[in-house]
Amino acid sequence: MNAITTPNLNSARDSSRDIPILKEKGQREVFCGLTGIIWLHRKIQDAFFLVVGSRTCAHLIQSAAGVMIFAEPRFATAIIDDRDLAGIADANDELDKVVTKLLSRRPDIKLLFLVGSCPSEVIKLDLARASERLGKQFVQQCRILSYSGSGIETTFTQGEDACLAALVKELPKTTEGSVSPVDANAKNLVVVGCLPDVVEDQFRRVFNELGIEAVSFFPPRHSSDTVTVNANTRYLLAQPFLAETGRLFDERGAQRLDAPFPFGVEGTSHWLAAAAKEWGISDADFERVTAPRKARAISALARYKTILNQKTISFFPDSQLEIPLARFLHNEMGMTLLEVGTPYLHRQHLAQELALLPEDVRLVEGQDVEKQLDRCRADSPDIVVCGLGLANPLEAEGITTKWSIELVFSPVHGYEQAADLAELFARPLQRRMKLAA
Ligand code: SF4
Repeated sequence: MNAITTPNLNSARDSSRDIPILKEKGQREVFCGLTGIIWLHRKIQDAFFLVVGSRTCAHLIQSAAGVMIFAEPRFATAIIDDRDLAGIADANDELDKVVTKLLSRRPDIKLLFLVGSCPSEVIKLDLARASERLGKQFVQQCRILSYSGSGIETTFTQGEDACLAALVKELPKTTEGSVSPVDANAKNLVVVGCLPDVVEDQFRRVFNELGIEAVSFFPPRHSSDTVTVNANTRYLLAQPFLAETGRLFDERGAQRLDAPFPFGVEGTSHWLAAAAKEWGISDADFERVTAPRKARAISALARYKTILNQKTISFFPDSQLEIPLARFLHNEMGMTLLEVGTPYLHRQHLAQELALLPEDVRLVEGQDVEKQLDRCRADSPDIVVCGLGLANPLEAEGITTKWSIELVFSPVHGYEQAADLAELFARPLQRRMKLAA
């Protein structure tokens, strides 16, 4: 059960297996899409995120992002107060005042996102219109876009998808008049999804060594860096939660390279192989570039395998990373999957992942938290991956937990980070063992 499949660039794998998926609808326990601001603001270094929301929203991003207190703040909340909610004040006028004040104080902001929330939705504040209006007013100074991070419309990682989708809509289709470093008149590769800079650099080196030179990453580090997306574009998703962004890439004629996600040795190898195959790179060249990296990763993983092997794990639906992570932990670390819950399962984007999962896995899409908690208690897993809201109560019941949010903003992609990824699961188990000793 634990053999790692290695890619043969010429063989198509069976992605048509039909693993039964239990669908659940009920009370959910997930963060809203505002959470994405934590890693998005680090990635796009000259962007500013203005949440149009309540004090609860301000509290969420300030406390969840508390680690950034010493960094130059690049997010804020325009508070919708009782007067706005009661319709006494014109929320649009109020918003215009806040944006004007912000941009006169911070001329360094080159890209401003107005981020919608539950309260802005409740008062039906049209942020798309507001961003258009304000965009015209501040056209010389910065671009203004909007997306929703509201808990009514989005879960946790869907905030990134909504933000990237807003960015895709205004990407150029041709390089005419732009300063794109990649020639979009020739076949080019775009890696889609926020990755830490260090991981991006590693992947760029691998692609370049394979002979793929025209590579860009989306979103770019600076809002002025141009990424051109058209029919010459082939793209690899780096994250499994980018349904809308992927759809918009497809709409422009770009072609998605079907692959599992680059977590662990197996996922990374298949992911790179999808690009290598598209660029006609030989098996021998692929091996030459990837084999040393693969060998280092396998040897770094060995020490964590002794801790994780045969341990049982359950995932609560939270980040949409659950299926790729479960595949890694089962196939490479020897863990037994009891339940893998995901808030939403994109059948096409996840097809290659499903093909690599054990057939008897209990897959759940959506959530009815009480029912899932009952199943979790009955299963009694060695470790549970869940959101912050569930972690404390489960720990109090003696169940070891891992916060899913850490998996989103830690560098975990690629060969070099495979052992760090394994360590994130091994550490809580080791701590529990020490406490029990
Ligand atoms: S957007 Fe909604 S769910 Fe998110 S913090 Fe604000 S009120 Fe809460």
